[in-house]
Amino acid sequence: MTAPGRWTRGGGLDFTCTRCGLCCRGPGEVWFTQEEKSQALAAISGTPLAAQAATIWRASGADEVIDVPADQACPLLGPDGCSIQAVKPAQCRTYPFWPELLQSRADWESEKGRCEGIDRGPNHYAYADIFELLSGRKDTRENS
Ligand code: SF4
Ligand code: SF4
Repeated sequence: MTAPGRWTRGGGLDFTCTRCGLCCRGPGEVWFTQEEKSQALAAISGTPLAAQAATIWRASGADEVIDVPADQACPLLGPDGCSIQAVKPAQCRTYPFWPELLQSRADWESEKGRCEGIDRGPNHYAYADIFELLSGRKDTRENS
């Protein structure tokens, strides 16, 4: 488990998702454990996405990955947001509280070009909240 950078100890961080959807757009990769993929498949069962499932994910070691090309959205992003909102993978549930974005204030702010919810109130995450996010014991469930 990665601890939040000490720089977050003081006042915590503001983050409020505007549902702009940019974090679901490429280029990028969305990583799923096998359990997360099973939950996603159950969530899209009976929808048109189910028929595309074989082409949505590729195996990578023990995990499953969705490749999102530049200028395209994750195939699970629908008109009303994420099609698997209730069971989206940890990567999406914890964004933007990712270890690499919490190393320093500069790293956190560098992500503002992508995520306009960073440093935006009223939602506030205290240091303890950020610690829980990085531990996988908490998620934001805010983003699209
Ligand atoms: S939140 Fe949903 S639509 Fe967005 S990248 Fe994650 S799985 Fe895809
Ligand atoms: S998490 Fe950030 S980039 Fe993603 S939808 Fe919310 S405001 Fe937009």
